[in-house]
Amino acid sequence: AKRDGGGVARRFDPVMFAKAEQRRLAEQDLMRGLEAGEFEVHYQPIVDLTQGGITVGVEALVRWRHPEKGLVPPALFLELAEQLGQVPRLGGWVLEEACRQAMDWQIRFPGFEMNVNLSASQLGNPKLIDEVREVLRRTGLPPHDLVLELTESVALTDLVESARVLSALKELGVRIALDDFGTGFSSLSHLSTLPVDVVKIDRSFVQAMPETGGASVAEAVLHIARTFNLSPVAEGVEDAGQAERLRELACARAQGYHFARPMPALGVTELLAKQSPV
Ligand code: C2E
Ligand code: CA
Ligand code: CA
Ligand code: CA
Repeated sequence: AKRDGGGVARRFDPVMFAKAEQRRLAEQDLMRGLEAGEFEVHYQPIVDLTQGGITVGVEALVRWRHPEKGLVPPALFLELAEQLGQVPRLGGWVLEEACRQAMDWQIRFPGFEMNVNLSASQLGNPKLIDEVREVLRRTGLPPHDLVLELTESVALTDLVESARVLSALKELGVRIALDDFGTGFSSLSHLSTLPVDVVKIDRSFVQAMPETGGASVAEAVLHIARTFNLSPVAEGVEDAGQAERLRELACARAQGYHFARPMPALGVTELLAKQSPV
């Protein structure tokens, strides 16, 4: 920003100042939103392609209902929340809210599954195991119907520690899913080390599947999943061709805009009301 070729070292830089100010306001706004409880959990159906595409569970996805900006997606606030150390708190709230909601749906659909995302800071939080145990106790959700999703990069930051925490979570009876599977660096070598039950095939692979014939990364990932005895869920299914191809490849579970977008809890309740029990 030194445009005058040296001399004054620290001149007032309006661009830098504006950025710092913007950041300060964003932090303040987020803290205010957290205080005011402006966050919502939306749910995206996960369907079973072998059962005619019925909804067998959902993934919980957090949103910020901002008083001026409207519904704000997680990509626009999670990183800042992480930097402010607020993700364990926000994530804890999402977990409780999602499990409570899952119990509501389980009355009509026993075995209805709830997937909840965990961030690195949550996995690294020594209180996580107690927190999950307590939420299960308070809500009464059968542990087996809770699936905790974490990305490879989260799981692999500290492999030994992750394996320990995940084992402890599994002792509670919950299941673990590797999210965005295939997009990380060293996925394969660690599949046997980490106690994982489910792999979520990243949407980039699903969307790259050829319409007919031809090998695909999605197919290879499905093969890997089977080899390690993991249940696959295909993410980001956007059209009927992809759904059909996945069914042919015997991938039972899928999620994506083709079936349903993330929606408020009431939307799922209405969807389930139209569907006979699982
Ligand atoms: P994710 O866990 O991979 O979640 C799937 C994302 O893909 C969601 O975006 C979902 O709306 C979107 N999606 C679903 N179907 C389709 C499709 O057919 N096509 C395309 N293009 N996208 C699809 P969303 O809700 O914006 O969430 C983004 C990410 O934010 C999530 O990615 C997850 O990593 C994170 N996230 C969301 N909620 C939470 C949370 O409660 N806790 C934590 N730690 N992370 C969360
Ligand atoms: Ca996820
Ligand atoms: Ca994902
Ligand atoms: Ca993702």
